[in-house]
Parts: sequence; structure tokens; C-alpha cells
Amino acid sequence: MPIAVVVIDIDNFNWINEEYGYESGNALIVEFSQRFVFSAPPHSLAARIEGNKFALAIPSTYNSQEIQTMLSEQFLPLQNFFHVFGEPVHLTFSAGVALASEDGSDYYTLLRHVKHNGKNDIVLYDASFQQQDLERRLAMSFQSALQNGEFYLCYQPKFNVHKGCVDSVEALIRWNSPIHGVVSPATFIPIAEKNGFIFDLTKWILGEACRQMKKWKQMNHTIERVAVNISAPMFLSDRLPKMISHILYDSRLEARHLELEITETVIMAHFDAALTIINSLKKEGISISLDDFGTWVSSLTYLKKLLIDTLKIDKSFIDGVHTSFEDKALVEMIIQLAKLFKLSVVTEGVEKQEQMSILKKLGCDSIQGYLISWSERPDILEARYAQKKYGS
Ligand code: C2E
Ligand code: MG
Ligand code: MG
Repeated sequence: MPIAVVVIDIDNFNWINEEYGYESGNALIVEFSQRFVFSAPPHSLAARIEGNKFALAIPSTYNSQEIQTMLSEQFLPLQNFFHVFGEPVHLTFSAGVALASEDGSDYYTLLRHVKHNGKNDIVLYDASFQQQDLERRLAMSFQSALQNGEFYLCYQPKFNVHKGCVDSVEALIRWNSPIHGVVSPATFIPIAEKNGFIFDLTKWILGEACRQMKKWKQMNHTIERVAVNISAPMFLSDRLPKMISHILYDSRLEARHLELEITETVIMAHFDAALTIINSLKKEGISISLDDFGTWVSSLTYLKKLLIDTLKIDKSFIDGVHTSFEDKALVEMIIQLAKLFKLSVVTEGVEKQEQMSILKKLGCDSIQGYLISWSERPDILEARYAQKKYGS
């Protein structure tokens, strides 16, 4: 009879034993066995062969690809959480398959072959699936978590050097879930952004932060301002200004006590929209803070990884280098960074003598632009540069 044998190992099972004790390990094996038997294809034989190893004999004429497809559907229940002390635990598996037609004719030979073939002939559970599964589960819990009061805010103080006291705080969301445990905002905020829950969540955060700020104000506390992080979809949505004015009204809080933190990356990616939004928020009297500033500057580290040699500074930085203190400071900073990474610096779009003098002083290695030359045909350049030197 055509037969396929599949051997499945629970990965890192020793970890469960070490972390939770043997009794929990055994309970997990029992739970796994029940699901394994329940999920086995019809007419197959399911067995535990040792420790964390299980085998399945399937009467089949399928090839290993077809078996893989069949089993990854059949074994979906194994991809749900298991429980240890009521805590959800994800398990991953490795599986090997042997076919009677290719690897032998009796069960024991097949079993040996599976072992020799090694693991992962069948991938029943891959990491990306696990990630998606986790995301889906977190997303499904969001609304009830909000209703059940599982979210709360912590406030990180900001010390004002001039005043010598903490005069503002940043509100940071926390989630203590009875199902998922403590989940970091770095994990769940991106999921909330993806599935749209961020709107409800931000509304709750703003309300909570403003209510708390009002309380501090009534206590005559030194904290004068609360900063709330605003995610990209919320920041770019039409709903934000209205939402904020409602919340400020409801909490009887003046706008000057509220600050919004927006990341540099979001502003850079939607610069024109950001200008308009920020202007309208500023008009209301709300402060704006550029969070995680330097992300774009630090992306210069990627240039280093790319093994490039030269950094060409864009004309937009050069245009005002001789007239604007800020532009000059920016160019100086970029040149310093480039030097740190041992990159040489070329500035493009140099049109004026004053620009060139400054750029030379700042340590720029090469200068390009109309001041030096238009683009020319090669013969003209050959003739010109045989005689003339620039940059002296
Ligand atoms: P965290 O509280 O774990 O928050 C991480 C990030 O999640 C935040 O980065 C922010 O992008 C997002 N986040 C947190 N709460 C909210 C929220 O209410 N709404 C939205 N939309 N996003 C939120 P961010 O804003 O740069 O916050 C600073 C992070 O750095 C916080 O982590 C804070 O706890 C942490 N931190 C503060 N001081 C230190 C420190 O000295 N060392 C280290 N390692 N981390 C620090
Ligand atoms: Mg922040
Ligand atoms: Mg930050």
C-alpha cells in the first residue's frame, strides 16, 4: 500500500521544561497530542514515538509537496496558542516526510529515512505565519482591551534646565493584557496603525492625558504641559484637529498645556501636508515637537554600509549657505558627519564666489556648479583645463 510517514518535532521543547518545569512540559505534551490526533487526516495513524516527537502514517499516493500542502491546512489547530499556567505559548515545529514509493517499503525503514532526511522537509509553521498570527490576535483584542481598561498611560518627565524643575511630561501608552501579557507599544502601535484602531486609541490617549493635565493644573503642580505621541495615520487625518478641540473643550484645558510629538520620518514623508496641518494646530495654540529627530541624518550610516566614497550635498542646502545661518549650520553638520564616516564631500549647485569660500572653510572636498562650469563638450573642457586652475 502506498504510504507516507511524517515525523514532527516540537522545537525547543527543553526550553518549556526548563522555563516552566516538567509537569507543565507534560501537560503541554498532552494538549499537543490531543490536537495532533484531532488534526490527523482521515485513515492516518497518529502516534507519539518519543519525548517531543510524533509520527503520522498516511495511506497516500501524494508527493511530498502535496503532503506539505495538505498538512499545513490540516494542522492549523497546532498553530493556535498552547497554554502553560494559563499563559499563551506559541510552539513551532519541524517535520520530515518519507514516501514508500521513494524511501522504502516498511514502516521502520521509512521512519529511519525521515530521520536521515533531516528536518524541515515540511514547513508546518513558519516565522512569517507566526508573526501574522500574532498581529491578528493582538488586533482582535484591541477593542475589548480599550473597553476593559487594559490600556493606561505612563508619563515620562522632561526636566527644564532653565527653570530647574520638571515642567512637562510625555504620555506613553502601556498595555497589560490578560491574554497577551505586557505588550510593548513598539509592537502594538504599528498594528493599530495598520488596522485603523489607532484613531480610537489616540482619542482615548488624548482624553486621558488632557484629563490628567487638568488635574495637575488644578493642583498647581509644576507640570505645565503634556506631550502626546501622534502616529502618522492620525496626524494626516482630517479628524485630528476636530478631535483635539473637542477633547480640550471637554477637559476644560487650554491648548498651551498640550503638545503633540510627531516623528521626523512622518513629516519628511508628507512634507506639504505636514506644513498645513502643523500650521492649523499652531493656530489653536498647541505645541509641536519633532520626535526621533536625526533619523534622516543618521541614515548616513547606511551610506557607510553601502561602501560609497563620496557624499554629494544637494543644491537646496547650498543655495542659502552664504545668506542663512541655519543653512550654513546644516551644511557644516553634514560635512562633519561625512568626515566621521571618511566620506569625501562634493557640493553641487554652487553658483557664487561667497558660497565657494564658505564651503571651502567648512571642509568641503569638491565643488560643482555654474561658478566652476556649465556642462561642456569634452574638447572644450580639454582645452580649458589644460590652461586654467580652479579653487585657488
Ligand atoms: P516606549 O514607551 O516603549 O515607546 C516606544 C514608542 O512607542 C514611542 O517612541 C512611540 O513611538 C510609541 N508610543 C508610545 N506611546 C505612544 C502613544 O501614546 N501613542 C502613539 N501613537 N505612540 C506611542 P517615543 O515617542 O520616541 O518614546 C520614547 C521611548 O523611549 C519610550 O519607549 C520611552 O519609555 C523610551 N525611553 C525614554 N527614556 C529612555 C532611556 O533613557 N533609555 C531607553 N532605552 N529608552 C527610553
Ligand atoms: Mg515621543
Ligand atoms: Mg522619541
